[in-house]
Amino acid sequence: MSARCHICNGDVANNNDKGILLALVYSNPMLILSQKAQHIVPGLFPGARASCKGSPSIAQYIKGQRKDTRTGPDGKLLYPIAPDAIDRVRAAWDKMQKLPPVGQPW
Ligand SMILES: [Zn+2]
Repeated sequence: MSARCHICNGDVANNNDKGILLALVYSNPMLILSQKAQHIVPGLFPGARASCKGSPSIAQYIKGQRKDTRTGPDGKLLYPIAPDAIDRVRAAWDKMQKLPPVGQPW
């Protein structure tokens, strides 16, 4: 699967694809098709218009990534970490890191 990120227009590699991560977390492959392609971890990617912020709300579950500190009008975190989701997201992320890169079937 090869796709372009709807935020930065850069190539989304399988190992940094929000749809694939959600599909693995929820054991639902349809989530790959229902999501717009989007990076998870931020960076500057091939073909991108500019640096991509990725998906801070998901990236915060991955070791070494920043916490998502975006807040709503009430000052509360918009996307607080759900403690019961940490292990599932990290397991899915680890699985994704073994997938072939963009453009190859998996
Ligand atoms: Zn992007």
